[in-house]
Amino acid sequence: MNRQEFYITISIPYANGRPHIGNALEYVIADAIARYQRLFNHRTLRFSIGNDEHGTKIARNAKKQGLEPQVYVDNNVAYFYQLARDLNIGYTDYIRTTQARHEKTVQYIWQKLLPYTYKGNYQGWYCAGCEAFVTEREYQQHAGICPDHQSPYEKISEENYYFKASHFSDKVLELVDNDTLKIVPQSRKKEFLALVKEGIPDVSISRPTKTLSWGIRVPDDSSQTLYVWMDALPNYLSVLDYPTNSSWQHFWPADVQVMGKDIVRFQAGLWPAILLALGLKLPDKLLVHGIIRSHGQKMSKSIGNVVDPEELLKTFGSDAFRYYFLRHIPTLEDDDFTQEKFQRAYNHELSNELGNLVSRINGLLNKDRAAFIRQPLKEEPLGPDYHQAFAHFELNLAFDQVWHDIQALNAQITKSQPWKLTGADYAKTLGDIRQKLYTIARGLEPFLPKTAQAIKTNLTSDKVVELAPLFPKI
Ligand SMILES: [Zn+2]
Repeated sequence: MNRQEFYITISIPYANGRPHIGNALEYVIADAIARYQRLFNHRTLRFSIGNDEHGTKIARNAKKQGLEPQVYVDNNVAYFYQLARDLNIGYTDYIRTTQARHEKTVQYIWQKLLPYTYKGNYQGWYCAGCEAFVTEREYQQHAGICPDHQSPYEKISEENYYFKASHFSDKVLELVDNDTLKIVPQSRKKEFLALVKEGIPDVSISRPTKTLSWGIRVPDDSSQTLYVWMDALPNYLSVLDYPTNSSWQHFWPADVQVMGKDIVRFQAGLWPAILLALGLKLPDKLLVHGIIRSHGQKMSKSIGNVVDPEELLKTFGSDAFRYYFLRHIPTLEDDDFTQEKFQRAYNHELSNELGNLVSRINGLLNKDRAAFIRQPLKEEPLGPDYHQAFAHFELNLAFDQVWHDIQALNAQITKSQPWKLTGADYAKTLGDIRQKLYTIARGLEPFLPKTAQAIKTNLTSDKVVELAPLFPKI
């Protein structure tokens, strides 16, 4: 796709609590890709993040706290805004499913989908106390009794609207199979195709308002409220003010939709079916990142091994956080997080390798900055492996390329001992080192934007710089 615009999205987190480390990971992955596209491919960006704010769980949590659901989500969403700010996420748009513009888009989509909807019966296990259905699996897990209310689940049957996703099943599976809608990595594509080998089923897209009140009403039938996916997925279009603001056509289809592996079946199955029903193009790529475990276990409140991203950010800062999660967590795989590994990477790599390199070069430049400031810095191309890794969304490998250059430059300085040189030799050797650090800073820019900027500023300053150490040891 050769166009000027670049549109990237995340899967908007559910606002029923504070953000967790997985949300932070998704933010930084999408942000590094967005920055890369702007810097190296000069694309005009739309980068949307946001929150999914409706549903029974939220209504229930709000009630527990004695709050109106809107007040409850406003409180939680503030933490997501804060996290995005603290991580230095350069998003262009923030969509909330409680916004009027979202409701407008969703209702429009509903009308357009009418030819593919029908009323049907939904049967499931229901807790009146929770005002919610549970899945068959949850029912089994809790032996038929709601753990919150100690009352048995009831079998309830109710009338809902269904979307004929099955009508689009063959087409969607063909487009996924031939990579028109490309799922990255291939292993997730295979998993998805195996999961839906009997076809994409029709999906219930509403609930009676009496069992689901906190949501968007079905147009012309206020006895029904839109259910989960039909409410949340259209955020990718509502954030563009589809269909009222014609600029949506410059950005749709999305270039990349970033998501966790647990929701691929909806993003790769149901969402494309909705788009086909609307007569819209499918997104170009679905990027599926892994999940982060802690000491080999899933992070969960009950185990007590949850890592609060804000705690790490407070101690180490945004670039240190971005460094660990973009270089040491492989973009496309699950991986393990421990505080010890994080701290080791910070001290050994950020502080010793990058921090020292920058301060060594600063010291050398300070001897005669005027001599160097006249030498223009060139925008030298970064290696093909760097760009190749970005093209495959293996951000950690692109980052590795830059890190090899950092290590090589440290070695070159140790070997050439420029502090012993004088005159033309000194100027030539240090000019080369200065140019190499500049190219490194450009490579770092999508990953560590603040650090990259600080290095560039230092390299172009004509005055002696008293440099505060980058990444002081912790
Ligand atoms: Zn219950």
